[in-house]
Amino acid sequence: MRSKLPQVGTTIFTIMTRMAQAHNAINLSQGFPDFDCPAALRERVSYYLNDRRNQYSPMTGVPELREQIAIKVQSLYGCRVDADQEITVTSGATEALFDAIQATVGNGDEVIMFDPAYDSYDPAVRLAGGVPMHVPMRQPGDGRSWSIDWDLFASRITQRTRLVIINSPHNPSGSVLTRQDLDTLAGLIRDRDILVLSDEVYEHMVFGGGRHESVLCHAELKEKSFAVFSFGKTYHATGWKAAYCVAPPALTAEFRKVHQFVTFTSTSFIQYAIADFMRDCPEHHLQLSDFYQQKRDTFCRLIADARFTLTPSAGTYFQCVDYSAISDLPDMEFVTWLCEEKGVAAIPLSPFYAEAPDSRVIRFCFCKDDSTLETAAAVLRSL
Ligand code: PMP
Ligand code: GLN
Repeated sequence: MRSKLPQVGTTIFTIMTRMAQAHNAINLSQGFPDFDCPAALRERVSYYLNDRRNQYSPMTGVPELREQIAIKVQSLYGCRVDADQEITVTSGATEALFDAIQATVGNGDEVIMFDPAYDSYDPAVRLAGGVPMHVPMRQPGDGRSWSIDWDLFASRITQRTRLVIINSPHNPSGSVLTRQDLDTLAGLIRDRDILVLSDEVYEHMVFGGGRHESVLCHAELKEKSFAVFSFGKTYHATGWKAAYCVAPPALTAEFRKVHQFVTFTSTSFIQYAIADFMRDCPEHHLQLSDFYQQKRDTFCRLIADARFTLTPSAGTYFQCVDYSAISDLPDMEFVTWLCEEKGVAAIPLSPFYAEAPDSRVIRFCFCKDDSTLETAAAVLRSL
């Protein structure tokens, strides 16, 4: 059969989690916590499951949840968004990203993304008939993290550029965009017919007292952006696939034309439960950055004597490390060896690139119990 995605295989997250299971390895590869979501939230889920909230919810998401999202956006980002016209609940951020791309990208339209890039962007653009334009980020070095080279970005804009995808805090690098980055982007696309898709699923994991720079805080970008958020990250419940997209009314209208035929709506009782939890426990997301910064610090301290080099992540629950002092193997071979022979699973960075640089970098996920991190670190220190 002719494939629409001939160059696409199974995602690296599935490959590595399967490998970890097959070898009974500690899984620091695919990003998910090994601790549970809050008990009060689970109680609400079970309440609504048993309260007959088991039929279709409205296509746009249950009103109570969209209302809570509007309140949260206002208090965090200082902007008023209309719960009916600007917020859509989706089945995971993956769905929201896909919907936004299908809604805006047509045959031959170019979409700029920055490598290393999350792996769902490129295939979604291709399925829409668009052309992915991969712009490499500046590689880390001298204590600096990955960053966007805006001059290079500017040189890749053409008449066909339709969409730019940004992601901050950034998976896999753990870098974050600054206000200056957003201002520069806004200036470069001003007066052009270019939209922004802003993947902000790690909004609550920003370290060092910094704040997350959302496109929703940027008056100019907000008017041309789809901002995507995930409850899976915020509530330690990646398996629920619950997320949302915030966009101005005209963009939301187009977004919903796709959403209604991709999933139509998302699991009802989960939405009611999250709405209650957001209302009753607004402090949950406010302490997440401190919680994950402690995890990052614990992990980095535990592997400080290992032969990796690293710059601590500024956000997300991922830490990239350079292993070139340990091995010359290419990253896929190295993570296979590490998993099969040493019992720790990680993610290679090359699948996040259209053209991978000649570097030796892998990603560890640190959203794990401290005991998991300690056991894994003992192995990593022995390499
Ligand atoms: N974007 C990024 C950068 C991610 O890391 C992830 C998931 N891990 C997603 C989107 C997808 O989120 P969800 O699980 O809500 O679909
Ligand atoms: N986003 C998660 C990660 O980066 C994985 C999500 C998935 O498996 N699709 O690890």
